[in-house]
Amino acid sequence: MTEDDEDLIRLSLDDTGLQALLLKAQSLIDGYFRLEDPNEIHAVGTEISLEAEIGGTVLRGIIDRLDIDSEGNFIVTDYKTGRAPSNGYEKARFNGVNLYALLCERVLGIRPVKVQLLYLQQPCAISAVPSDQVITSLHKNVSALWSAIAKACDRDNFLPRPSALCNWCGFKSICPAHSL
Ligand code: SF4
Repeated sequence: MTEDDEDLIRLSLDDTGLQALLLKAQSLIDGYFRLEDPNEIHAVGTEISLEAEIGGTVLRGIIDRLDIDSEGNFIVTDYKTGRAPSNGYEKARFNGVNLYALLCERVLGIRPVKVQLLYLQQPCAISAVPSDQVITSLHKNVSALWSAIAKACDRDNFLPRPSALCNWCGFKSICPAHSL
């Protein structure tokens, strides 16, 4: 695989970098096997690409894994390589997978009964139910966000919103928030 995998070749890693990557991958895979037995999982598919018109715009998502349980219900699973959230901060982490649940409902006609995040580092799993309230609120948020984007485009006015993420932003050198 290290000789033939095009994605891996594109990383142009030296021996040290490659060994570090393989060790990290091994540790994440070990973490996965401590979380679940894949023999007991019935995946409908992996890396499933879905898109639907929601809130006036087209949203696309790639679901890491869509499972079906023994009662025929869908479960959305998302793998995470970063740190699991501490107590009280889990809710915000579900926005992405809840969006996948909304996409499933729109495209497949069935809302998943559960969304789960598998944090492979720790390892630990957290899950939530995409309730009516959650999905309705998500739909409203998408509509409001798209409406705000459309207004900003009409006015050609994009106010910067500085945060800790600015340190990873490729536009920082030309951003008005950092040139004052
Ligand atoms: S540096 Fe980037 S992320 Fe930060 S405010 Fe400017 S554009 Fe936004």
